[in-house]
Amino acid sequence: MSIHTDYEKWEEMNESGNCPVYNSDSMPEGMIDLYELEHSWLNSKPVECMKWACHVTAKYHDPELYDLEEEELFGFMIDLQMYSKALKEVTRAVKINYESHGNSLPHLHVYFYPRNMNDPFPGKPIDYNEKRDDIYDEGEYEEFVKKMREELASMD
Ligand SMILES: [Zn+2]
Repeated sequence: MSIHTDYEKWEEMNESGNCPVYNSDSMPEGMIDLYELEHSWLNSKPVECMKWACHVTAKYHDPELYDLEEEELFGFMIDLQMYSKALKEVTRAVKINYESHGNSLPHLHVYFYPRNMNDPFPGKPIDYNEKRDDIYDEGEYEEFVKKMREELASMD
């Protein structure tokens, strides 16, 4: 579902009362809370288009940055900074890519894609539709989750 395939449904979710995040509905299959800070949650799942992809979900329903109060905006950005720094430390990525769409869910969230010379999308943006269930070796995802939590706890 997206604004391109079902605009009416998207517009309906735009009302906070119909937002699955706002309503604390269950998360998409396999998705976990990696960490929680004052203004956001860091989420991830093992099936992704590339290793170590994760995303930050704001605790405010507003879908756009320009909807946030100054204090909310600042707090959200500080959370993004801390999460991305931990991600860099844990993954040794060369560059973190940041993407915020909201075309499927009108609730502010930002994706992190840690880039490396040998990542699956050389010379181009990642394609998040190319999700695979074999991006992690045995036990690698669990190790990533553990290290991220430890790193973030040491910074928090
Ligand atoms: Zn929402």
